[in-house]
Amino acid sequence: MNMADSQSGSHSQTPACGNRKNIRGIRIRSLNIGMILVSCILYILLILATIHAADNYNSMVRATDEYIVCEKNAALVSEGSGYLTEQVRLFTVNADPEHVKNYFTEVHVTRRRNTALSRLQEVSVTPQAYSFLEIALEHSNRLMEQEIYAIRLVAQAHGYDPASLGAEVSAVSLTQEDLSLSAQEMTARAQELVFGPAYLDARALITENISRFIDSAVGTTEQEQAGSMANLHLTMKGQQILISILFLENILVFILILRLIVKPLQIYVKNIKEEKMLEITGSYEFKYLALTYNDIYELNSANKAMLRHKAEHDPLTGLINRGAFDQLRQILKTRMAPVALLIIDVDKFKLVNDGYGHEMGDRILRKVAALLEKSFRSTDYPARIGGDEFAVIMPELSEDKKDMLMQKVDAINQILLHPDNDEPAVSLSVGGAFSENGFSDDLYNRADTALYHVKENGRCGCGFYED
Ligand code: GH3
Ligand code: MG
Repeated sequence: MNMADSQSGSHSQTPACGNRKNIRGIRIRSLNIGMILVSCILYILLILATIHAADNYNSMVRATDEYIVCEKNAALVSEGSGYLTEQVRLFTVNADPEHVKNYFTEVHVTRRRNTALSRLQEVSVTPQAYSFLEIALEHSNRLMEQEIYAIRLVAQAHGYDPASLGAEVSAVSLTQEDLSLSAQEMTARAQELVFGPAYLDARALITENISRFIDSAVGTTEQEQAGSMANLHLTMKGQQILISILFLENILVFILILRLIVKPLQIYVKNIKEEKMLEITGSYEFKYLALTYNDIYELNSANKAMLRHKAEHDPLTGLINRGAFDQLRQILKTRMAPVALLIIDVDKFKLVNDGYGHEMGDRILRKVAALLEKSFRSTDYPARIGGDEFAVIMPELSEDKKDMLMQKVDAINQILLHPDNDEPAVSLSVGGAFSENGFSDDLYNRADTALYHVKENGRCGCGFYED
């Protein structure tokens, strides 16, 4: 046991010093830049995928809207054509000129068929689909010639002025054959023209072409929708993958932050609280920090140890000094265990200094110190407590060891009295005392009294305090 160990707490040392140039580890800065880059790329891709998905969705909506426009306008062509048929048929049945007026209003003013066709030009129908509607209109126009002829026949039968029914009607010339018919036959011929199988076939052709147009529009819409749907599907898959990668990237960032920053910080705080060196762990920066801290820690510990040694030891002999001796007394005072004390004084030391010089005096003091250190146990404390005055504190030593101590002092004196070199012969006077209950207050005085008696009784010897 030495004074330093008994005074301070123990510092458990983690072997953690190394060369700071050889540190290997992930740098937080690089990690940060890398993660920002990866995140930016992933987010940009995600934004592009979202824009693409929106485009695909819009084209699906547009295709559906266009299909609705196609269907509505196809219906408009059908309605317009149907309306003409209806009005001409009614005229052939009841000869009411109002129907002719309605007929030509549809042809020149309402113009449902033409309006539908021009609206469909704005929609992206295929030329083939559009041609079906044109054919339907063509058939419808061709039927109109037949219908106006029928109107002319009815007008003739009822004696109407053809010009009053419209320019188209007055422009029609009836065949000689039809002119030779009676009024009734003329009406029947007109009804035959707009109700007969040829008329129905022609109407069927119009309906068929309109159906073809709708089928084609449906096909185009389905195709466009299928294309957009496939793209949308693909884009959404891409989005899912990107989101999954982003999620994984986030998890990776959390794990890395935990391993490279949070954990090392926790460990460092714990190490610092426990006054230990830091563990070399975490990112490059933390490892660098730990190595630097450990270097400073070691230097500081060495400085502290050196200062403590200086404060506690006598520079001449290397033994513990008076201050440390007094501290030790205080420590041993609280331990209720046996302890023995010797106070030692060099006899007539002044004569050594006077006769041989101060340097020789110092040599003798060092020799006495060395002998004391050698002669006592490693658990004993030899100390230099004054100029030529020494002490030895011996913990756990009881009075039954008195003889052994006297023998030790005799042996030392024998050596000092018979130097084998140029040193002068010296001797020691030693006073001793024992305590069974720690370093009691009077232990020193008792040992000092014993020393006084030895000095009084011829010096060079060892005496113990007796009650
Ligand atoms: P006594 O037998 O009664 O002890 O006689 P003494 O001559 O030894 O008397 P004392 O113990 O009073 O004298 C101690 C001397 O030790 C006085 C002083 O000059 C000398 N001294 C003290 N410190 C040192 C030191 O560090 N080196 C040297 N060389 N001498 C010292
Ligand atoms: Mg002396």
